[in-house]
Amino acid sequence: MTSSKNHLDPETLAAQALGRIDRETGAVVPPLHSASTFARDADYALIGPHIYSRDSAPTLAHAEDIVATLEGGAGARVFGSGLAAFAALTETLAPGAHVVAPQVMYYAAQAWLRRLAERERLSLDLYDQTDPQTLKALVRPGRTELVWVETPANPTWDVMDIAFAAEAAHSAGAILGVDSTCAPPPTTRAISLGADIVLHSATKYLNGHSDLTAGVLVTAKDDARWVDIHAVRNLTGGVLGGFEAWLLIRGMRTLFVRFARQSETALAIARHFEGHPRVAGVLYPGLASHPGHTIAAKQMTGGFGGMLSILVDGDIDTARAVATRTRVFVPATSLGGVESLIEHRRSVESPESTVADTLLRLSVGLESANDLIADLEQALKG
Ligand SMILES: *Cc1c(COP(=O)(O)O)cnc(C)c1O
Repeated sequence: MTSSKNHLDPETLAAQALGRIDRETGAVVPPLHSASTFARDADYALIGPHIYSRDSAPTLAHAEDIVATLEGGAGARVFGSGLAAFAALTETLAPGAHVVAPQVMYYAAQAWLRRLAERERLSLDLYDQTDPQTLKALVRPGRTELVWVETPANPTWDVMDIAFAAEAAHSAGAILGVDSTCAPPPTTRAISLGADIVLHSATKYLNGHSDLTAGVLVTAKDDARWVDIHAVRNLTGGVLGGFEAWLLIRGMRTLFVRFARQSETALAIARHFEGHPRVAGVLYPGLASHPGHTIAAKQMTGGFGGMLSILVDGDIDTARAVATRTRVFVPATSLGGVESLIEHRRSVESPESTVADTLLRLSVGLESANDLIADLEQALKG
């Protein structure tokens, strides 16, 4: 980490992009370096710390320093997407490594693990995160290399106790990786709870404006696996572009205020629709009725986030119809942006999806809570 201002609060560091005023021009906005390659001097020595942008580059390094600082990690690496970051991590696993991951997690990340398992690159066991003992039972001392947690988990927002999972992983000699996409640093710092690696789809909250795809890995320690992760990124080329890194830096400057507002509005929506005659259930960790509420209250210290799901009273057609009738919520996949999105999740996962037919996933943006609630009311009425 390179910031000299680490005594400041994370929201201050985020708002000022670590406070790096451009020394040449005095510009208060970080410069965008788009160079793919970096020159040498008369002695053929590199002028700066970078050689070639597949390996490292100034704007990427700046984005990485911000994420590492906010997560309290020893370093961060940006990738072209969240899944590119996840694939780089799995690439560092030993051949045949045993991996324990949740039954309910980001669909495509689990599809990647299943694919690796089918090809015998690793062996995979899935635990039920509503019952943490199932994780403990599956971890094999000396055999398990990676325990994976996603919390709150797509799209039911089940909450996993990160400290419990860290204990279970470490007691077996495994590392704990946490997908913190839906619980970014304003609310959860997984490393402080025992995580070894944190993943973000920076496409979502970190950037927050639905205008790029990016992924980040953050490490607790600058160890051999971390060196290997950098090597994998360099050798497979899944790096982020300079412009996307610059947009990501810009997005992260408002992360704390966005997340606070999104959490507040999501809670208002969840409370409004809990017990609503056309709603069979509301899944949101901020509701006392949510099974993960107690743990969420402990490890999500800056709000319960902007993601919730509504189980519509009816069948698959009722639910799909609601998703087509909203006028403020945009019917689209993804999450964490300034505009609210609604999605019939079952329709976008594969035919084997275990998501309830009647589940609508909501990503709450920055619109007024009144408009969002009124929009869902009229969509539910039909
Ligand atoms: C979107 C998402 C990912 C994948 O990230 P991409 O940037 O789309 O590749 C992984 N995990 C979670 C929880 C996500 O929401």
